[in-house]
Amino acid sequence: MNQKISILVIEDEKSICDFISRTLEVNDYRVTSAFTGKEGLQAITSAPPDLVLLDLGLPDMDGNDIIRKTREWSSMPIIVISARIQEKEKVEALDAGADDYITKPFGTSELLARIRTALRHSNKIATQDHITTRPYRAKDLKVDFEKRLTTLKGEEIHLTRVEYKIVSYLAKNSGKVITYDALINEIWGPYAGDNNRILRVNMANIRRKIEENPGEPEYIFTELGVGYRMIEDEGL
Ligand code: CA
Repeated sequence: MNQKISILVIEDEKSICDFISRTLEVNDYRVTSAFTGKEGLQAITSAPPDLVLLDLGLPDMDGNDIIRKTREWSSMPIIVISARIQEKEKVEALDAGADDYITKPFGTSELLARIRTALRHSNKIATQDHITTRPYRAKDLKVDFEKRLTTLKGEEIHLTRVEYKIVSYLAKNSGKVITYDALINEIWGPYAGDNNRILRVNMANIRRKIEENPGEPEYIFTELGVGYRMIEDEGL
């Protein structure tokens, strides 16, 4: 028998919660909902779902505390639902361990796409060996992690050491938004301080090398005020 994927929606606005639940049920997910942080945490621990959709603005609790508490014991995908203006909150949620965020108001297809991506990533965690050894591929771009080789339409792209580190980290986390801080940490270490400007300069150079039109990137997107997202890996 086919087990349905279970999704927990933690959202205090009843109309949004109903809209999400209906959409997901029609698309064959099993949905449970919680209207407060306390109910949400209880639901997460008593019957861990396959994925959580979490509103950050809950009446009784900061959504980030739910993420942190859950990350103490679980890597289940958590997608944050946030209002457009709360960029700082998005960053905080991602750094707390959220997998992605979706901004209100959002459409059905966007919601479903984000869920599919997050679920794919959670499966990848289980087979991490495989993903790190096989190259990243999307459109004309390929990143071979073993050979440390980046090619576009089969032609080698000459990246500096730092540029390669940025590209390979984004490629290994493709489809996910990576915050500026997370990326800076990864490239320059936790004590590097404020390297935002250097990161931007490197990104401009990378885009000049891999994007046909750096002003309208098709491989690495800027999530304004939050970080970067690399187009999802297309697989083998
Ligand atoms: Ca709310």
